Amino acid sequence: MTAQLQRELVVLSVWLFIMLLIGIIVDLISVLLLIGLLLYVGWNLYNLNKLSRWLANPSKQSPEAVGLWDEVYYQLHNLYKRQRRARKKLASILSRFQKSTQALPYATIILNTFNEIEWFNPAASQMFDLQPRTDVGQRIDNLIRLPAFTKYIQQKAFDEPLKFTLNNKQLILNVTKYGDGQYLLSARDITSLSRIDEMRRDFISNASHELRTPLTVISGYIEFLSHKVRDDVSDGSRIPLEKIEEQISRMNDIIAELIELARLESSPSVDHSVRVEIDTLINDVYSQGLVLDKNEHVISLDIDTEKLRKMDSLSLYGNHDELRMAISNLLTNAIRYTPAGGDIKLFVAADDSTISIGVQDSGVGINYEHIPRLTERFYRVDEGRSREVGGTGLGLAIVKHILDRHRANLTIQSEPGKGSLFRCDFPAAQLGLQEQG
Ligand code: ADP
Repeated sequence: MTAQLQRELVVLSVWLFIMLLIGIIVDLISVLLLIGLLLYVGWNLYNLNKLSRWLANPSKQSPEAVGLWDEVYYQLHNLYKRQRRARKKLASILSRFQKSTQALPYATIILNTFNEIEWFNPAASQMFDLQPRTDVGQRIDNLIRLPAFTKYIQQKAFDEPLKFTLNNKQLILNVTKYGDGQYLLSARDITSLSRIDEMRRDFISNASHELRTPLTVISGYIEFLSHKVRDDVSDGSRIPLEKIEEQISRMNDIIAELIELARLESSPSVDHSVRVEIDTLINDVYSQGLVLDKNEHVISLDIDTEKLRKMDSLSLYGNHDELRMAISNLLTNAIRYTPAGGDIKLFVAADDSTISIGVQDSGVGINYEHIPRLTERFYRVDEGRSREVGGTGLGLAIVKHILDRHRANLTIQSEPGKGSLFRCDFPAAQLGLQEQG
């Protein structure tokens, strides 16, 4: 029992005692006790009514009261003040949040589980022509009617961003799940970036094609001169001519690979419904490797056909020539970077979720700090060695591009002096997807 309530009980007792005394004096005890009680109840009802009116419209100042009512008003007033402060704080946070999201250069949309729009910022309104008054509550796939967008939103497979074209603009869309089944969509206009990228690709491709013609002409002349001096041992120009031939061949290789990279970057995505027989593909790469190797290494082939058959996965899906080029590049590298007599294994393995095609060698190996950068264009661990063995520095960049196009991953494990493993993992999810294709 609170002190205030105790005091109130004392007041009530004194009040009733006074009424009792008056009752004894006038000889009307029960009447005066009843009047005393009614007056007490009336006074409380009056205060209750005042409280109810104040609660309906609370003001900064609480009404005047005495006794227990004063305490009640005091507590309620404190609660009211605390609530007002919390509300103000929340409103200011909300207003700051709204201002920052309104100022975001990215189109931002909040969707609920049913893909209905809950909120969007002015950038989204402009990009997707959304109207705040009519479009909140609408399903987004009813408002943005593009097959690729609809499929992306409905499948809810948001691991990768979606690139699509809308009103001649190239857009990139990221979706993040948050809260209780809500989704945050954020879209960016990448038209100018794409244009710059396209210009860069075109430049490399055009420059490479332009260089090809003069190089072919020079090659022709060098060949002609080489023929003339070939049998003349005393002619001092023989060795320089051989060196020139060597460098021209290197330039031809670099140009061919630059053109290949530009082609990979600009060509449409691969058709995942085309079947590529793993066995034929790997045997093809293997025989080509044997020819290139000229018996310098022990090259073996290991295909886990039984497991592949069990998984009903004797095929990959995609572009046969690209896959062949990727695996062939890995085998060529193993031949290049493994000293004569070393072992090289071309293998195909499988587990329940992945088909792995790779090359394991017992060659020079690579220090760990180089591994993350190997797929960069022209990145070489040892430039002298790469040049010596006829490398261009573009092989692994091409491999990476091809694997990305086939939704596969490249894993590299290596130890200097012990050898390297280059493995391409084709995920089962992709296989499933391909089967549907
Ligand atoms: P390159 O034409 O120089 O071989 P790549 O892009 O194919 O270019 O490879 C990049 C670099 O990675 C190579 O220069 C080499 O240093 C290293 N590398 C690639 N494969 C192997 C391997 N099997 N063993 C050791 N080093 C390798």
